[in-house]
Amino acid sequence: MSQLLEIENATLKFGGVVAVNDLSFSVKEGEVYAIVGPNGAGKSTVFNLISRFYDPYAGALRFDGQNLLARSADAVADLGIARTFQNIELFDHATVLQNLLVGRHRHRRTNMVQEMLFTPKVRREEERHRAAVEDVIDFLDLQPYRDKMIAGLPYGVRKVVELGRALASGPRLLLLDEPASGLSVEETQDMRWWIDDIRKQMGITVLMVEHDMGLVSGVSDRVLALADGAKLAEGTPAQVQSDPAVIEAYLGT
Ligand code: ADP
Ligand code: MG
Repeated sequence: MSQLLEIENATLKFGGVVAVNDLSFSVKEGEVYAIVGPNGAGKSTVFNLISRFYDPYAGALRFDGQNLLARSADAVADLGIARTFQNIELFDHATVLQNLLVGRHRHRRTNMVQEMLFTPKVRREEERHRAAVEDVIDFLDLQPYRDKMIAGLPYGVRKVVELGRALASGPRLLLLDEPASGLSVEETQDMRWWIDDIRKQMGITVLMVEHDMGLVSGVSDRVLALADGAKLAEGTPAQVQSDPAVIEAYLGT
């Protein structure tokens, strides 16, 4: 398997805080790679670097061999990198369907005049987007909520819609920031099957940050343990969980 995402010696400081410290790791095409670590370890910051929300102080970031640092956040999304957020970011006063259609945004190839005139090209595009979104709705069992407003939905359902919004864009790399946080045991189990299917059926590479070690062990090929922005250990879930440095960091001794 070739490397899809490469992070090389990345460093990011916020004032005096070194949030990411000379960090290197790569994610292979087709794998599920998890980042674990205590609160404040720098996990979300790594995602913000990849999404190009932040500029690193030093280091290199490559996606499919291309230099990510030469691109804007929008251009990174166009390359096929989609993400979910630790705190759900959806349009609360729009329906599930509308939120997922927004996820298709990067595929729009028509201009505003064409859209206003509703040309046959626009109509065909619209149909294609709707079909892609309906597939995601079916895949994530969201039919009962399809036309419901986000604001009235239970947390667990909103979490699934957030995953759906990212999936609807048809990404090559999916970044999931704590997909199981706040979910019940049952909902976490569903999340596990979906992540498995996203990789196996859709062939999408997954990079996730997660605290639930059951979920991490269940779906990940490899795990990176972070502490104070730096790599503590990397390997299979079993290797990382039994690593003395990791155990020490988690016990806080
Ligand atoms: P994690 O996701 O592992 O809990 P974060 O990546 O959110 O950790 O944060 C890593 C460190 O960087 C923390 O010390 C946090 O306070 C700091 N940090 C994160 N984002 C910012 C920011 N926008 N401004 C200042 N400090 C930040
Ligand atoms: Mg975080």
